[in-house]
Amino acid sequence: MPLSEFDLIRRWFHRPAGQRDDVRLGVGDDAAIVEIPGDMQLVAAVDALVAGTHFRVTDRAEDIGWKALAVNLSDLAAMGARPSWFTLSLTLPELDEAWLDGFARGLYQLADRHGLALIGGDTTRGPLNIGIQVMGLVEPGTAMTRAAARPGDRIYVSGTLGDAAAALVHGGEPVLARRLHRPVPRIELGRRLRRLAHACIDISDGLLADLGHVAAASHCEAHIEAERLPLSPQLRSVCTPAQARAFASTGGDDYELCFTLPEASVARLANLATELGLGLTHIGEIRPGKGVTVAGGELPESAGYRHF
Ligand code: ADP
Ligand code: MG
Repeated sequence: MPLSEFDLIRRWFHRPAGQRDDVRLGVGDDAAIVEIPGDMQLVAAVDALVAGTHFRVTDRAEDIGWKALAVNLSDLAAMGARPSWFTLSLTLPELDEAWLDGFARGLYQLADRHGLALIGGDTTRGPLNIGIQVMGLVEPGTAMTRAAARPGDRIYVSGTLGDAAAALVHGGEPVLARRLHRPVPRIELGRRLRRLAHACIDISDGLLADLGHVAAASHCEAHIEAERLPLSPQLRSVCTPAQARAFASTGGDDYELCFTLPEASVARLANLATELGLGLTHIGEIRPGKGVTVAGGELPESAGYRHF
């Protein structure tokens, strides 16, 4: 007997309860019910990953599972929220047990790292497509938005930029490949930035494009210095300095955080970088004006990934 849709859900997506004590009703009913503390705000984000656009069908299922959740967690990280629950909308061309085993393994690896519970979803047949909605909690009024940058703020980014985009071209380099397939959502950094940073955004479409959203929402100019962009040794080793800066400024899929903060918070930020063991690099300034400007390097022509 072939597995039915319900067997599939039970086998891969119905996990034993007890991961969290705030899930009243999880997978199995018409909808899920969770308890929300009265003194917190709910933060929600959804992102779909489409085969051929966001990943290759030949990518490892385990990596696809990890990344589908990671890109969503990255959005919560940018808000400064603590992730709690997620739902999964899965469209599969066929019921491939080995693929589902791998997908679930990668998915739960990351979910468990953050104590996240899968509370529901939907399963249909069609071209491979993975939609995940994540929900989290944040203390009222402390979430970071794109609109909060102010003239005089410094602009920072976490980690290094351009690695994931370079991996698409220079696939063989293992550190770069890992950046592409196993992005690490900066949840802890986002939590710790809440009381330090003004604006924050995660870099999914490329620094210039995403910083452009901050500039527009904040009605300011974001000015960056190309020489300051943090580049990994691996990125430097596979291309010229100019190419590396182009990857770092327009390449997508990095899932680092880009944030702004006042001069007064700089010393505390340095402590945070040390505590987290994560590079936090000053790349520019927020000024009166509009748009993104770049000094010390030619501005690449395409400003990030766009679907339409
Ligand atoms: P309904 O027909 O009422 O929408 P479904 O048959 O779609 O219910 O789903 C049955 C249960 O399984 C629901 O609780 C749903 O949330 C859950 N579910 C379905 N697909 C998934 C999935 N891919 N991951 C997690 N839960 C799922
Ligand atoms: Mg339903």
